[in-house]
Amino acid sequence: MPKYGSNVRFDTQVIKADTPENISRAAHLAAQLLRQGQVVGMPTETVYGLAANAFDDSAVEKIFLAKGRPQDNPLIVHISDKDMLEELTAECGDVRRQLIDSFWPGPLTVIFPKSGRVSLKVTAGLDTVAVRMPVHPVALAMISEAGFPLAAPSANLSGLPSTTCAQHVQNDLSGKIPLIVDGGECSVGLESTVVAVKENTITVLRPGGVTAEMLKKAVPWAEIKIAEAVFKPLKEGESAPSPGMKHKHYSPKAKVILCTGKPEKIVDFANGYAGKNAVFIGSREVCAGVTIDRLEYEASPEDEARHIFSYLRRADELGYAFVVIAESENAGIGMAINNRLLRAAGFEVVEL
Ligand code: AMP
Ligand code: MG
Repeated sequence: MPKYGSNVRFDTQVIKADTPENISRAAHLAAQLLRQGQVVGMPTETVYGLAANAFDDSAVEKIFLAKGRPQDNPLIVHISDKDMLEELTAECGDVRRQLIDSFWPGPLTVIFPKSGRVSLKVTAGLDTVAVRMPVHPVALAMISEAGFPLAAPSANLSGLPSTTCAQHVQNDLSGKIPLIVDGGECSVGLESTVVAVKENTITVLRPGGVTAEMLKKAVPWAEIKIAEAVFKPLKEGESAPSPGMKHKHYSPKAKVILCTGKPEKIVDFANGYAGKNAVFIGSREVCAGVTIDRLEYEASPEDEARHIFSYLRRADELGYAFVVIAESENAGIGMAINNRLLRAAGFEVVEL
């Protein structure tokens, strides 16, 4: 195994985890590497993660190195069993307990006051830790076989769209990590919802697979707030409640032109990009009127969420200069889609 450093190259292995036997073989191999302090590509239901032992500082450092992630952007810690939470925090409370009981395993990340065991490397110096229990069987098998929580950010080069299949991870990180476990395409396709809890208020720091409507239904006595930075760029010098908010994110090389308006106007606007090396990403319905190149999904917002990152990546693979795309309806998972699109477009929206 080569020693890690900026010039170390791995012969990255990709191993399929598509049957019960393959899953246990992959989990075994991944756990061996994780115990040695290595970093492994891990499938989850949201996006692929870049996982390392959350209790091993030098392993956690390798995550930041491999992705080129800013050191001040903390990592989410993944557990396979609710009991693992006891090692990470001493404090839960009624609201967090209700959230855990309602949404774990699943795409909800909850912020807790951190225990002494959690290193400041994972939390980027914060006294809180972000924790999630994924529902993907391969992620659960990898964590429980390793026997310790795994710190894992999205498995993409920092700034690029997140990865939703093993091939994306290979494209970004081949040679930089020893192993990618291929658990198929991610079923949600967008990152987890991140929430902070203070008394009876739940603040959504990043919208994701668990929607604001779902949070309200699960904890009806709590007030649900959406952090301002979800839809607006931070002002000069403003501190971020979630450090990931201040970094450039999800951007393909192509310029993302985000628009909003009635479908007919969107079609006309997209068609105005004829001859400009542009591609339109939209539902099959809207695409029907578009004459420039198209990447289509079915009409449901869930299907849009599943495709958005892979289509932004596809646009770069196909060498387009522009991606034209419309905002989603700002409800349900549409809020998470719009949050990612706003960031990809540098918060510029063309009102039609
Ligand atoms: P990623 O790992 O790329 O999915 O990003 C993780 C997100 O969780 C980033 O937006 C982080 O800023 C956020 N996050 C992680 N830990 C904390 C924390 N302790 N407090 C607030 N936000 C956090
Ligand atoms: Mg990320």
